[in-house]
Amino acid sequence: SDAFLSVRDLHVRFSTEDGIVKAVDGLSFDLERGKTLGIVGESGSGKSVTNMSILGLHNPDQSEITGEIILDGQELTGAPEKKMEQLRGNKMAMIFQDALTALSPFYTIGRQIGEPYRKHTGASKKEAHQRAIEMLDRVGIPNPKMRVNDYPHQFSGGMRQRAMIAMSLVCNPDLLIADEPTTALDVTVQAQILDLLKDLQQEFGSAIVFITHDLGVIANVADDILVMYAGRAVERGTTKEVLTAPQHPYTWGLLSSMPRIGSDVSEGLRPIEGTPPSLLTPPPGCAFHPRCDFVDQVSGEHACGSRRPELPLGRAAACHLTAEQKRTIFVEQIKPR
Ligand code: SF4
Ligand code: MG
Repeated sequence: SDAFLSVRDLHVRFSTEDGIVKAVDGLSFDLERGKTLGIVGESGSGKSVTNMSILGLHNPDQSEITGEIILDGQELTGAPEKKMEQLRGNKMAMIFQDALTALSPFYTIGRQIGEPYRKHTGASKKEAHQRAIEMLDRVGIPNPKMRVNDYPHQFSGGMRQRAMIAMSLVCNPDLLIADEPTTALDVTVQAQILDLLKDLQQEFGSAIVFITHDLGVIANVADDILVMYAGRAVERGTTKEVLTAPQHPYTWGLLSSMPRIGSDVSEGLRPIEGTPPSLLTPPPGCAFHPRCDFVDQVSGEHACGSRRPELPLGRAAACHLTAEQKRTIFVEQIKPR
């Protein structure tokens, strides 16, 4: 594959006192340069673990990672920590949900933005300071020459998120991993940050993996969507395909539990019943079957509870329903709600 980021059959297992947790269980996807892939799922679906694996942030003593993660032709699985350290912050960078975990309270904003720049480019302190001012300006912080000397606690939540975005983009990374980057913000600020990310992507040309539990958030940001459940991808397609003609019962559930624009927020809201399964003892067959309303419509004895549906590359949903059922059930039963 000539994708910029290519993940093939990724498995991430953690050893715990209670047994082996299969946090990611056979995941494959491609991401092209300059494009955004939205990975959607509930907490515990494996989306954050996937992102940590790409960044090489799992402790090798506590985790086992197999499969391929190829970034711009380089194999990252099993790469030495020294190489990963060189790639992080430079070729790839991350934006977290909570800027306070990424920013140190002890150093000025300017120093924290300038530090990765110095480390990866060999710039002087003065150059790095200047670059930090430029980046703060670029992410919309007013009066950057003054604010560059502030500490994180002197910034509002939205400004800290902007500062973290400045820090992640300072070395012009080719890959940006954003893990719930707007979840902690109110709706207005959230929209501003999403707009900012889109603008910056145009300017910097980075590929973005955007991780969220909220399909609504990525509707305007992602080119493609991958829906994850219990450590596996259950549906993939372009954003338009997944939002207008979703094929997997779990995606139908995510959409039904999403407030509609222009409607009373409570109207039509229908949360998915039940909880995600334990990854210590995942259900056999389709991991979604204990929560799925459509098990009975699959022909063949207990197929959902015994045979695991596969997800091919390209537009697809990992579900035993026929192609015709995937289409008509959505159109006739889910969409009108
Ligand atoms: Fe539901 Fe069966 Fe499809 Fe799984 S395979 S989503 S249980 S219909
Ligand atoms: Mg997470």
